[in-house]
Amino acid sequence: MAPFTAIHRSFAEQARWRPDRTLFELPGGGSITYGETEEVVRRIAARLLADGVTPGDRVAMQVEKSPEAVALYLATLRVGGVFLPLNTAYTDAEMAYFLGDARPRVLVCSPGRRAEHAGREAGGLVVQTLGTSGDGTLLEGDGRHDGDHDASAGDPAAILYTSGTTGRSKGAVLTHGNLASNCEALLQAWRYTSEDRLIHALPIFHVHGLFVAVNMTLAAGASMHYLSGFDADAVIDLLPRATVLMGVPTFYTRLLRSDRLTPESCAPMRLFVSGSAPLLASDAEAFRARTGHAILERYGMTETGMNTTNPYEGPRKPGTVGRPLPGVQIRVSDRETGRELPDGEVGIIEVRGPNVFSGYWRMPEKTAAEFRADGFFVTGDLGRVDEDGHLCIVGRDKDLVISGGYNIYPKEVEELLDAHPGVLESAVVGVPHPDLGEAVAAVVVPRPGQELQAGELLESIAGDLARFKRPRAVRVVAALPRNVMGKVQKAELRERYADLFTGADT
Ligand code: ATP
Ligand code: MG
Repeated sequence: MAPFTAIHRSFAEQARWRPDRTLFELPGGGSITYGETEEVVRRIAARLLADGVTPGDRVAMQVEKSPEAVALYLATLRVGGVFLPLNTAYTDAEMAYFLGDARPRVLVCSPGRRAEHAGREAGGLVVQTLGTSGDGTLLEGDGRHDGDHDASAGDPAAILYTSGTTGRSKGAVLTHGNLASNCEALLQAWRYTSEDRLIHALPIFHVHGLFVAVNMTLAAGASMHYLSGFDADAVIDLLPRATVLMGVPTFYTRLLRSDRLTPESCAPMRLFVSGSAPLLASDAEAFRARTGHAILERYGMTETGMNTTNPYEGPRKPGTVGRPLPGVQIRVSDRETGRELPDGEVGIIEVRGPNVFSGYWRMPEKTAAEFRADGFFVTGDLGRVDEDGHLCIVGRDKDLVISGGYNIYPKEVEELLDAHPGVLESAVVGVPHPDLGEAVAAVVVPRPGQELQAGELLESIAGDLARFKRPRAVRVVAALPRNVMGKVQKAELRERYADLFTGADT
């Protein structure tokens, strides 16, 4: 493992060595260099210091994606602050919760949100603004700060709230060492260098867009086509001028809908990455057939950064998320007893390594409950290690259906449903049942122009599925509920169909 270098220092080194190198390629045609970004970082750092930010203070950010937002991240680390990026979609009530929980010294919002947050200043919070085109109070003033708080590996660098897929979001406290070691491991694993040109279409308030995509780019001295969000046409336009795309599964589903996705359009591309949710096997196959590229799937989470990856030099086994990254240990344990399981058996995935966070913010009991005595973190994901040592994710422990005492892994049922020619995608959930405790319900989205008959669909999978695993009800919907990262919101489905077997909705 390389010696620890904090991400903001890696960036500062790049800015010193190659100030004229492009960091951001903007959709409008402009670009911003490392040197220019360094200037903005210095200005923002001076403002943060003037606002009284001292080491360990949280600096919250709720702004649209912009180059200045990355500069704010770096400036926060430079003055020893703890960066707290918040989802731009959070409502007023959610913001009140997160700000009350994290108690930042400064909240940085877009100029358009200034009025919304004005009332929060009464509690001593400083509200600053940061615009998408360089406007906002944070950039005003003549101050420059180029000093560097001497952070060590164990100091907190960021609090990142989890996506809230299984319940209320938790604040994961990540240290400078967590970020640096994970970045180093990914640079090695994916051969990411200063020659790379990344298509960055992810949000930057999430582990994937910030700690994978941005950190890797900054540390390598690479450049990124910096899109405000995902748009299939815009991405296809950029493919001939890029080398890497980091995406979530829905990116690939949407790219495949375009006729413009061809082998020629992908010519200089060397790597397509998918993560944050399971990649559809049918998309992986279709993408390879259409472009000649095997998508590299990786597995990670807010609390740990990245854990495993398909190999850069193949083979990339569809349906697996590959092997542990350098320095990371993975094991699979029995969900009841915690006993380590042999390869092939399904259990809870546990992870240990320099990537694993220091704990949940202000949740000491929860933190203690999620770590084993020997330091392994219990992810809450179920999986197994296959005969080649590749990890296969089977689903989340909280999504496991227990029906009449039997365990049912939704993914097994979903894969069979998805194989039906009339099904675009499916989600299987357990909902309350008067006799069985829970019963399996299938929510399916038909392929465009196809009529789906529940009876025929169930018949088509019955031969491959033990009776207790078969869905007892099918609901056909136009789309599955997903969050911005493309994660299916199963809790919402469980709520929506809670009365399916107990009440009027049968
Ligand atoms: P919360 O913890 O608040 O319920 P969340 O777990 O969705 O939300 P994140 O940290 O954003 O929050 O997501 C990490 C989770 O995403 C993993 O634990 C795993 O369930 C899922 N995930 C990530 N990558 C993959 C992948 N390649 N295949 C399947 N699932 C994945
Ligand atoms: Mg989680």
